[in-house]
Amino acid sequence: MLLQGKKALIFGIANEKSIAWAIARAFHGQGAELAITYAGEALEKRVRPLAESLNSKAILPCNVTSDDDIKGVFSELGKVWDGVDIIIHSIAFANKDELKGTIINTSREGFANAMDISVYSFLGIMKEAMPMLQGRNAAALTLSYYGAVKVFPSYNVMGVAKAALEASVRYLAEAAGPEGVRVNAISAGPIRTLAASGVNGFTQILNHVEEKAPLRRNVTQEDVARAAVYLCSDMASGVSGEIHYVDGGYNVIGI
Ligand code: NAP
Repeated sequence: MLLQGKKALIFGIANEKSIAWAIARAFHGQGAELAITYAGEALEKRVRPLAESLNSKAILPCNVTSDDDIKGVFSELGKVWDGVDIIIHSIAFANKDELKGTIINTSREGFANAMDISVYSFLGIMKEAMPMLQGRNAAALTLSYYGAVKVFPSYNVMGVAKAALEASVRYLAEAAGPEGVRVNAISAGPIRTLAASGVNGFTQILNHVEEKAPLRRNVTQEDVARAAVYLCSDMASGVSGEIHYVDGGYNVIGI
Protein backbone atom coordinates (compact mmCIF):
# COMPACT_ATOMS: atom_id res chain seq x y z
CA MET A 1 0.00 0.00 0.00
CA LEU A 2 1.35 3.39 -1.03
CA LEU A 3 0.55 5.30 2.18
CA GLN A 4 1.07 2.56 4.79
CA GLY A 5 1.97 4.12 8.14
CA LYS A 6 1.47 7.73 6.93
CA LYS A 7 -0.54 10.15 9.05
CA ALA A 8 -2.78 12.45 6.98
CA LEU A 9 -4.63 15.54 8.21
CA ILE A 10 -7.51 16.52 5.92
CA PHE A 11 -9.24 19.91 5.72
CA GLY A 12 -12.31 20.41 3.49
CA ILE A 13 -14.85 17.63 3.88
CA ALA A 14 -18.38 19.07 3.80
CA ASN A 15 -20.29 15.99 2.55
CA GLU A 16 -20.00 12.78 0.49
CA LYS A 17 -19.48 14.77 -2.71
CA SER A 18 -16.48 16.72 -1.41
CA ILE A 19 -13.22 16.13 -3.26
CA ALA A 20 -11.58 15.86 0.18
CA TRP A 21 -13.89 12.97 1.07
CA ALA A 22 -12.76 11.00 -2.00
CA ILE A 23 -9.16 11.76 -1.02
CA ALA A 24 -9.81 10.56 2.55
CA ARG A 25 -11.26 7.28 1.26
CA ALA A 26 -8.40 6.72 -1.17
CA PHE A 27 -5.81 7.46 1.53
CA HIS A 28 -7.54 5.08 3.95
CA GLY A 29 -7.54 2.42 1.24
CA GLN A 30 -3.78 2.89 0.83
CA GLY A 31 -3.10 2.36 4.54
CA ALA A 32 -2.94 5.96 5.84
CA GLU A 33 -4.17 6.95 9.30
CA LEU A 34 -6.50 9.95 9.13
CA ALA A 35 -7.37 13.07 11.12
CA ILE A 36 -10.29 15.08 9.77
CA THR A 37 -11.51 18.62 10.45
CA TYR A 38 -14.92 20.20 9.97
CA ALA A 39 -15.69 23.87 9.40
CA GLY A 40 -18.09 24.50 12.28
CA GLU A 41 -20.61 23.04 14.71
CA ALA A 42 -23.37 22.90 12.11
CA LEU A 43 -21.18 20.67 9.94
CA GLU A 44 -20.11 18.29 12.68
CA LYS A 45 -23.27 16.19 12.35
CA ARG A 46 -22.50 15.47 8.69
CA VAL A 47 -18.72 15.07 8.90
CA ARG A 48 -18.33 13.05 12.12
CA PRO A 49 -20.05 9.87 10.81
CA LEU A 50 -17.98 10.04 7.62
CA ALA A 51 -14.76 10.47 9.60
CA GLU A 52 -15.70 7.67 12.01
CA SER A 53 -16.39 5.30 9.12
CA LEU A 54 -12.69 5.60 8.19
CA ASN A 55 -11.51 5.20 11.83
CA SER A 56 -10.29 8.79 11.92
CA LYS A 57 -7.88 9.21 14.86
CA ALA A 58 -9.06 12.78 15.49
CA ILE A 59 -12.14 14.75 14.39
CA LEU A 60 -11.53 18.43 15.07
CA PRO A 61 -13.36 21.72 14.49
CA CYS A 62 -11.58 24.29 12.33
CA ASN A 63 -13.03 27.41 10.81
CA VAL A 64 -9.96 28.61 8.91
CA THR A 65 -10.84 32.28 9.41
CA SER A 66 -9.76 31.77 13.04
CA ASP A 67 -6.05 31.53 13.97
CA ASP A 68 -7.09 30.01 17.28
CA ASP A 69 -9.01 27.24 15.50
CA ILE A 70 -5.99 26.43 13.32
CA LYS A 71 -3.65 26.42 16.35
CA GLY A 72 -6.18 24.26 18.23
CA VAL A 73 -6.07 21.58 15.52
CA PHE A 74 -2.34 21.11 15.94
CA SER A 75 -2.31 21.26 19.73
CA GLU A 76 -5.05 18.58 19.84
CA LEU A 77 -3.34 16.51 17.17
CA GLY A 78 -0.07 16.63 19.14
CA LYS A 79 -1.86 14.60 21.85
CA VAL A 80 -2.49 11.66 19.51
CA TRP A 81 0.28 11.86 16.87
CA ASP A 82 3.99 12.62 17.17
CA GLY A 83 4.00 14.10 13.66
CA VAL A 84 2.04 14.56 10.43
CA ASP A 85 3.08 13.18 7.02
CA ILE A 86 0.36 14.66 4.80
CA ILE A 87 -1.75 17.83 4.83
CA ILE A 88 -4.71 18.13 2.46
CA HIS A 89 -6.10 21.66 2.01
CA SER A 90 -9.34 21.41 0.03
CA ILE A 91 -11.04 24.66 1.05
CA ALA A 92 -12.43 27.58 -0.90
CA PHE A 93 -15.17 30.15 -0.44
CA ALA A 94 -16.56 33.22 -2.17
CA ASN A 95 -19.89 34.95 -1.62
CA LYS A 96 -22.51 33.90 -4.18
CA ASP A 97 -22.80 37.53 -5.29
CA GLU A 98 -19.18 37.47 -6.45
CA LEU A 99 -19.70 34.33 -8.55
CA LYS A 100 -22.10 35.83 -11.06
CA GLY A 101 -21.80 38.67 -13.55
CA THR A 102 -18.27 39.95 -14.09
CA ILE A 103 -15.31 40.62 -11.82
CA ILE A 104 -16.04 44.34 -12.05
CA ASN A 105 -18.78 43.85 -9.44
CA THR A 106 -16.38 42.45 -6.82
CA SER A 107 -16.70 44.13 -3.43
CA ARG A 108 -13.72 44.90 -1.18
CA GLU A 109 -15.20 42.73 1.54
CA GLY A 110 -15.98 39.85 -0.84
CA PHE A 111 -12.45 39.98 -2.24
CA ALA A 112 -10.86 39.92 1.21
CA ASN A 113 -13.11 37.08 2.35
CA ALA A 114 -12.38 34.91 -0.70
CA MET A 115 -8.63 35.50 -0.36
CA ASP A 116 -8.67 34.83 3.39
CA ILE A 117 -10.55 31.52 3.24
CA SER A 118 -9.24 30.23 -0.09
CA VAL A 119 -5.60 31.35 0.03
CA TYR A 120 -4.38 32.61 3.42
CA SER A 121 -5.81 29.50 5.09
CA PHE A 122 -3.21 27.34 3.32
CA LEU A 123 -0.39 29.58 4.57
CA GLY A 124 -1.91 29.73 8.07
CA ILE A 125 -2.25 25.95 8.23
CA MET A 126 1.31 25.37 6.97
CA LYS A 127 2.70 27.83 9.52
CA GLU A 128 1.21 25.83 12.41
CA ALA A 129 1.88 22.46 10.76
CA MET A 130 5.62 22.85 10.14
CA PRO A 131 6.81 21.63 13.56
CA MET A 132 4.87 18.39 13.02
CA LEU A 133 5.83 18.00 9.34
CA GLN A 134 9.56 18.54 9.41
CA GLY A 135 12.06 15.74 8.96
CA ARG A 136 9.59 13.04 7.81
CA ASN A 137 9.45 13.45 4.00
CA ALA A 138 6.04 15.03 4.39
CA ALA A 139 3.76 16.38 1.67
CA ALA A 140 1.11 19.13 1.52
CA LEU A 141 -1.47 19.35 -1.23
CA THR A 142 -4.07 21.97 -2.14
CA LEU A 143 -6.81 22.09 -4.79
CA SER A 144 -6.85 24.63 -7.58
CA TYR A 145 -8.77 25.25 -10.80
CA TYR A 146 -7.82 26.32 -14.35
CA GLY A 147 -9.65 29.60 -13.66
CA ALA A 148 -6.33 30.63 -12.04
CA VAL A 149 -4.76 31.04 -15.47
CA LYS A 150 -7.64 31.43 -17.95
CA VAL A 151 -10.95 33.27 -17.77
CA PHE A 152 -14.12 31.29 -17.06
CA PRO A 153 -17.59 32.85 -16.89
CA SER A 154 -18.62 33.83 -13.33
CA TYR A 155 -15.46 32.42 -11.70
CA ASN A 156 -14.32 36.02 -11.13
CA VAL A 157 -12.67 36.64 -7.75
CA MET A 158 -12.15 32.90 -7.27
CA GLY A 159 -9.89 32.91 -10.35
CA VAL A 160 -7.80 35.63 -8.70
CA ALA A 161 -7.77 33.63 -5.46
CA LYS A 162 -6.66 30.44 -7.25
CA ALA A 163 -3.85 32.37 -9.00
CA ALA A 164 -2.68 33.55 -5.57
CA LEU A 165 -3.04 30.00 -4.22
CA GLU A 166 -0.87 28.60 -7.03
CA ALA A 167 1.79 31.26 -6.35
CA SER A 168 1.57 30.34 -2.66
CA VAL A 169 2.29 26.71 -3.58
CA ARG A 170 5.56 27.79 -5.21
CA TYR A 171 6.62 30.01 -2.29
CA LEU A 172 5.65 27.36 0.26
CA ALA A 173 7.55 24.69 -1.68
CA GLU A 174 10.69 26.85 -1.43
CA ALA A 175 10.12 27.68 2.24
CA ALA A 176 9.29 24.15 3.42
CA GLY A 177 11.61 22.21 1.10
CA PRO A 178 14.71 22.45 3.34
CA GLU A 179 12.68 20.65 6.04
CA GLY A 180 11.93 17.82 3.60
CA VAL A 181 8.34 18.99 3.03
CA ARG A 182 6.94 18.90 -0.53
CA VAL A 183 4.11 21.29 -1.50
CA ASN A 184 1.95 20.77 -4.59
CA ALA A 185 -1.49 21.51 -6.03
CA ILE A 186 -3.90 19.54 -8.14
CA SER A 187 -5.78 21.67 -10.64
CA ALA A 188 -8.98 19.65 -10.95
CA GLY A 189 -11.47 19.80 -13.79
CA PRO A 190 -15.03 20.86 -12.93
CA ILE A 191 -16.88 18.46 -10.60
CA ARG A 192 -20.42 18.83 -9.23
CA THR A 193 -19.94 19.58 -5.48
CA LEU A 194 -21.38 21.99 -2.93
CA ALA A 195 -18.69 24.60 -3.66
CA ALA A 196 -19.20 24.26 -7.43
CA SER A 197 -22.95 24.80 -7.09
CA GLY A 198 -22.18 28.40 -6.08
CA VAL A 199 -20.66 29.19 -9.50
CA ASN A 200 -23.25 30.63 -11.86
CA GLY A 201 -23.39 28.68 -15.16
CA PHE A 202 -21.40 25.72 -13.79
CA THR A 203 -23.40 23.21 -15.87
CA GLN A 204 -22.35 25.05 -19.02
CA ILE A 205 -18.70 24.60 -18.05
CA LEU A 206 -19.24 20.88 -17.36
CA ASN A 207 -20.90 20.36 -20.76
CA HIS A 208 -18.16 22.24 -22.59
CA VAL A 209 -15.35 20.26 -20.95
CA GLU A 210 -17.10 16.97 -21.67
CA GLU A 211 -17.28 17.88 -25.33
CA LYS A 212 -13.78 19.36 -25.75
CA ALA A 213 -11.41 17.61 -23.32
CA PRO A 214 -9.08 15.02 -24.89
CA LEU A 215 -10.68 12.29 -22.74
CA ARG A 216 -14.20 13.51 -23.80
CA ARG A 217 -15.50 13.29 -20.23
CA ASN A 218 -15.46 15.17 -16.98
CA VAL A 219 -13.22 13.95 -14.18
CA THR A 220 -14.57 12.49 -10.94
CA GLN A 221 -13.62 13.02 -7.32
CA GLU A 222 -11.98 9.58 -7.54
CA ASP A 223 -9.78 10.65 -10.47
CA VAL A 224 -8.52 13.53 -8.32
CA ALA A 225 -8.08 11.30 -5.27
CA ARG A 226 -5.89 8.82 -7.16
CA ALA A 227 -3.56 11.64 -8.26
CA ALA A 228 -3.53 12.88 -4.65
CA VAL A 229 -2.36 9.44 -3.49
CA TYR A 230 0.57 9.62 -5.92
CA LEU A 231 1.52 13.22 -5.03
CA CYS A 232 1.40 12.55 -1.27
CA SER A 233 3.19 9.20 -1.45
CA ASP A 234 6.92 8.53 -1.68
CA MET A 235 6.32 7.77 -5.39
CA ALA A 236 6.42 11.58 -5.85
CA SER A 237 9.52 12.04 -3.65
CA GLY A 238 11.14 14.43 -6.15
CA VAL A 239 8.04 16.52 -6.95
CA SER A 240 7.43 19.91 -5.29
CA GLY A 241 6.02 23.30 -6.27
CA GLU A 242 3.97 21.64 -9.02
CA ILE A 243 0.47 22.44 -10.31
CA HIS A 244 -0.70 19.03 -11.55
CA TYR A 245 -3.73 19.02 -13.86
CA VAL A 246 -6.36 16.32 -13.37
CA ASP A 247 -8.81 17.58 -15.96
CA GLY A 248 -9.03 14.96 -18.71
CA GLY A 249 -6.42 17.02 -20.57
CA TYR A 250 -8.72 20.03 -21.08
CA ASN A 251 -5.94 22.56 -20.36
CA VAL A 252 -3.89 21.56 -23.44
CA ILE A 253 -6.65 22.47 -25.89
CA GLY A 254 -6.37 25.77 -27.80
CA ILE A 255 -9.56 25.66 -29.83
P1 NAP B 1 -16.88 21.31 -1.10
O1 NAP B 1 -17.25 19.93 -0.83
O2 NAP B 1 -17.94 22.37 -0.93
O3 NAP B 1 -15.58 21.68 -0.27
C1 NAP B 1 -15.22 23.01 0.05
C2 NAP B 1 -14.81 22.98 1.50
O4 NAP B 1 -14.35 24.27 1.95
C3 NAP B 1 -15.97 22.60 2.39
O5 NAP B 1 -15.59 21.54 3.24
C4 NAP B 1 -16.22 23.88 3.14
O6 NAP B 1 -16.79 23.67 4.40
C5 NAP B 1 -14.82 24.39 3.27
N1 NAP B 1 -14.79 25.74 3.82
C6 NAP B 1 -15.38 26.86 3.32
N2 NAP B 1 -15.20 27.88 4.18
C7 NAP B 1 -14.49 27.39 5.22
C8 NAP B 1 -13.99 27.94 6.42
N3 NAP B 1 -14.17 29.24 6.74
N4 NAP B 1 -13.29 27.14 7.27
C9 NAP B 1 -13.10 25.85 6.97
N5 NAP B 1 -13.54 25.27 5.86
C10 NAP B 1 -14.24 26.04 5.00
O7 NAP B 1 -16.40 21.47 -2.63
P2 NAP B 1 -15.14 20.86 -3.42
O8 NAP B 1 -15.49 21.05 -4.84
O9 NAP B 1 -14.80 19.53 -2.90
O10 NAP B 1 -14.00 21.90 -3.09
C11 NAP B 1 -12.75 21.54 -2.54
C12 NAP B 1 -11.63 22.32 -3.21
O11 NAP B 1 -11.52 21.90 -4.57
C13 NAP B 1 -11.84 23.83 -3.25
O12 NAP B 1 -10.59 24.48 -3.05
C14 NAP B 1 -12.30 24.06 -4.66
O13 NAP B 1 -12.06 25.36 -5.13
C15 NAP B 1 -11.44 23.04 -5.38
N6 NAP B 1 -11.85 22.72 -6.74
C16 NAP B 1 -13.12 22.31 -6.99
C17 NAP B 1 -13.50 22.04 -8.29
C18 NAP B 1 -14.91 21.63 -8.61
O14 NAP B 1 -15.32 21.78 -9.77
N7 NAP B 1 -15.67 21.12 -7.67
C19 NAP B 1 -12.58 22.15 -9.34
C20 NAP B 1 -11.27 22.56 -9.05
C21 NAP B 1 -10.92 22.83 -7.74
P3 NAP B 1 -18.34 24.14 4.60
O15 NAP B 1 -19.13 23.81 3.38
O16 NAP B 1 -18.71 23.34 5.76
O17 NAP B 1 -18.26 25.60 4.88
